[in-house]
Amino acid sequence: MKIIMLGAPGAGKGTQAKQIAGKYEIPHISTGDIFRANIKNGTELGKKAKEYMDQGLLVPDELTCDLVMDRIQQDDCKNGFVLDGFPRTIPQAEALDAALTKIGQKMDYAIDVDVPDENIVNRMSGRRACLDCGATYHIVSLPPKTEGKCDHCGSDLVLREDDKPETVQKRLTVYHDKTQPLIDYYKNQGILKSVDGTQPMEAVFTAITDILGA
Ligand code: AMP
Repeated sequence: MKIIMLGAPGAGKGTQAKQIAGKYEIPHISTGDIFRANIKNGTELGKKAKEYMDQGLLVPDELTCDLVMDRIQQDDCKNGFVLDGFPRTIPQAEALDAALTKIGQKMDYAIDVDVPDENIVNRMSGRRACLDCGATYHIVSLPPKTEGKCDHCGSDLVLREDDKPETVQKRLTVYHDKTQPLIDYYKNQGILKSVDGTQPMEAVFTAITDILGA
C-alpha cells in the first residue's frame, strides 16, 4: 500500500503517518525527519536545508526529489510506504508519479488531514519535539510522561524553530500557495480521501483505517 499524507503543517499528518506505518508494517518516510537528521549530522544537505526550514520556506525541489526517489526504491519499500511531508509541490508530485510509472507502479491513496488555519497556530505553539530521535509531543493533547523529556530517549524537548508562531504563519502561506494545489491534483487522479483532522487523534486514525481497510 502506497500512501501520501497531505495536510497543513501541524494538521497531525506525521502522528497519523507513524501509526499507519505501524499498523500496515510499511516504512514511514518523512522528508522533514530526513532533513532534520542531516542538520543534526552536519551534512552539506542539512546545512542547505536549514537555511530554508528556519524561515518557514520549502527546501528547493532539486534538493528534495532525488532523496525521496532513492528512498522509495529501497528493499523495505517493496510492500509500500507512507509519505509524510512529500510531495509538497506539483513538480514534486510529478517527479514521484514519473519515478513510479517507470517501475510500473502508482500511488494508492492521498489522505488529506483537514484542519482549518485558525486551529493550526494554536496547535503548533504547543508542539514539542525531540531533536535526537524525532518524536513529537503536544503539551495538552499528547504530553510526554515526564515534562520536557522525550519518552523514547530521555533527551530534552524543544519548540522547534519552525514551529514558532511567526514562522508557522509563513509556513501556512507557503502551504496554501504550493501544497494545497495537490488536493486537486490527487482528486483528479481519483485517489484523494479527506478526513476531519479536528477530531481527537484516535478518531482521525479510525477514519483513516476505515478508508484503507483492515
Ligand atoms: P515537516 O517536518 O514535514 O513539517 O517539514 C519541516 C520543514 O522541512 C518544512 O517546513 C520545509 O522547510 C522542509 N520540508 C520538508 N519536506 C519538504 C518537501 N517535500 N519539500 C520542501 N521542503 C520540505
